[in-house]
Amino acid sequence: MKITSAEFVISNTDIEKCPPPKYPEYAFIGRSNVGKSSLINMLCNKKALAKTSATPGKTQLINHFVVNAKTEPWYIVDLPGYGYAKAPKKLASKWMNFSKHYLRSRRNLMCVMVLLDSRHTVQKADQEFMEWLGENRVPFTMVFTKLDKLSSSDVTKNITSYKKKMLNKWESLPKSFNTSSETGHGRDFVLDFIDETNKLFEEPEY
Ligand code: GDP
Repeated sequence: MKITSAEFVISNTDIEKCPPPKYPEYAFIGRSNVGKSSLINMLCNKKALAKTSATPGKTQLINHFVVNAKTEPWYIVDLPGYGYAKAPKKLASKWMNFSKHYLRSRRNLMCVMVLLDSRHTVQKADQEFMEWLGENRVPFTMVFTKLDKLSSSDVTKNITSYKKKMLNKWESLPKSFNTSSETGHGRDFVLDFIDETNKLFEEPEY
């Protein structure tokens, strides 16, 4: 898919105030620092679309972006992540519950893109979140980030071992993508997947 435009739409703390669910939507979520903002910018080919956030603030927002607004629009939603080492536990769990509530109620949601740092092994927070998605029948893909930080043999080794560990709990694994926001690796695959999935969208009544 060709990206002709990508714009920020709105930031919210209130699910009711999010844009109407008239276009297909993809939620991006992951542990703090996983490379979420960088990936959104890389996919949209726009450097400062999503801010790269080193220190999370107290308020976490749902950020909507509209892509290809004039041709075949779709939304990216940037959700508060999890695993914020610096945030108080109570606050972090509040953000997570908020995101979960969003994922369960948003009717135009096509897929959750769960971002996973390719350098790390399976983390408890990611595991639990993916299990929650499975239990709640929310479709998701695994998006491995920062591939450029590893040698190609370590990429293969890490990702194979990651998937093997997942298969201890899962009968089969969802689709996965290997990406680098630094080199643009994986961009076409993610965008083609979104393009294909967009075709399945039916506008909900609202
Ligand atoms: P977020 O907190 O998940 O939104 O993560 P950011 O996008 O802000 O990225 C966190 C840090 O990782 C920043 O210093 C980025 O420059 C860096 N980063 C993100 N993606 C990549 C990548 O693909 N390759 C490399 N080398 N660094 C990355």
